[in-house]
Amino acid sequence: MNILHSKLEDGVRKFTVQSLSDARRHYIITRRATNKWQCSCPRWIYGVKQTDGTRRRESCKHILAIREMV
Ligand SMILES: [Zn+2]
Repeated sequence: MNILHSKLEDGVRKFTVQSLSDARRHYIITRRATNKWQCSCPRWIYGVKQTDGTRRRESCKHILAIREMV
């Protein structure tokens, strides 16, 4: 995954990455000081539908990839 930009602000690290499916689209992955991650992609925001119909938030491929890289 292509990290376009990264910055540290008040202990919060922000990475801007290019979408794998659409190069014109960018997502922002945030790592808080508490080591909590979040992402701006729909999969992370809306969660993943479980077999019982509920949705659960799961680490998306962007978060998993960045965690490998940093
Ligand atoms: Zn994501």
